[in-house]
Amino acid sequence: MSKHSLQWIAPSTLKVQGVIDEDVLFEPSIARFGSEAVVDFSGVTRINSCGVRQWTRAIAACPARIRYVNAPALIVDQFSMVPEFLGVNGTVESFQARYVCSACNHEEMVLLAVGSTVAKGVAARGSATPPPHACSQCGAPADMDHNPDVYLEFLSHMA
Ligand SMILES: [Zn+2]
Repeated sequence: MSKHSLQWIAPSTLKVQGVIDEDVLFEPSIARFGSEAVVDFSGVTRINSCGVRQWTRAIAACPARIRYVNAPALIVDQFSMVPEFLGVNGTVESFQARYVCSACNHEEMVLLAVGSTVAKGVAARGSATPPPHACSQCGAPADMDHNPDVYLEFLSHMA
């Protein structure tokens, strides 16, 4: 059984799931991108450097406007560390971040929407501010469990 799957869940929405490594061939799916495509990486469980290369190579010459939705933390790390991962015309619409409650230690993944819950654009280093989130269990303020300067770096790649 394949460790990954590439599935069209809507006419222009590609859902990528499983392990992204050297075995994933993105080209046939990307060839079906029209002028605009939506990519949902939320089902990705692991990605290695070969997988990162498979994706960045496949989309390097793709002129489509790619909108990323529900990006999980392991993909957000790529957006921020590897600017080519977004592609020439890519924008992140929504992504996940881990929050830990300061009062009850409850951990949860929160979906953040770029342009509403978090602003895009360049934040000066040291001044990136994670959007506030109230714990779903007790309502106390929760803290984003990532270094905001590193994790939110991608917001300045798509200003
Ligand atoms: Zn709490």
